[in-house]
Amino acid sequence: MLLATDLDGTFLGGTPQDKEELYQLLRDNKNIQLVFVTGRGIRSVLQLLEDTALPRPEYIICDVGATVTHLPTLSAVEPVQSNIAARWPGENVRETMKKIRGLLHQEAHQQYRCSYFYDEGTDIDGARLAATSLQCDLMLSAGKYLDILPAGVNKGYTLQQLLEVLALPHQKVLVAGDSMNDYSMYETGFKGVVVGNSEPELVSRTADMAHVLQAQRVGAGGILEAMAFFPEFGPYLQKEG
Ligand SMILES: [Mg+2]
Repeated sequence: MLLATDLDGTFLGGTPQDKEELYQLLRDNKNIQLVFVTGRGIRSVLQLLEDTALPRPEYIICDVGATVTHLPTLSAVEPVQSNIAARWPGENVRETMKKIRGLLHQEAHQQYRCSYFYDEGTDIDGARLAATSLQCDLMLSAGKYLDILPAGVNKGYTLQQLLEVLALPHQKVLVAGDSMNDYSMYETGFKGVVVGNSEPELVSRTADMAHVLQAQRVGAGGILEAMAFFPEFGPYLQKEG
């Protein structure tokens, strides 16, 4: 199977016991392929991986879907990455968004996307119009993050593109997340888990999706709960013989 998981609040969340159990399982069971799908940039993820207790994924989708890296070679996955890059308007984005009231630019290193903090004073409608004029999408998450991405690019899109490159059977994919920028992963139709303590809007938007489990347990515990819940993933909870 392949586990495609968000990091903050999902893979990195939950009790120490649940995290240890999940990480141990992934270290021991080479039949579970791991993909991180995060809003963080690649540098921040590589820093996290200096903690050797954290299982190493094979692929890392960063920047809310705007970049995809093969970890062992630290190279971009092609042609997925070039297709995204070709749709990014570049410096025009920052220039255009400067005119929007109440946006605070995040200074993190980024490619093919632009991130901001927003609050109740932000002109969201104006920001949305500006994004459309740039042929970009605007994404809100966790009540404070605002991302500008190439139109159609999100976590779910890039995950699907990656799986096409890998030619992986889709019935063996579990996606996991906790906030609205994870929503596109559930839209793909893959089996999914919304972990405990998720953003309320994500919980309500996925409530009617039969392929999505709304877990009780938080973070890593929610992923373990989903693996036990869906019959196709249960066998992977056993250690390899
Ligand atoms: Mg998260």
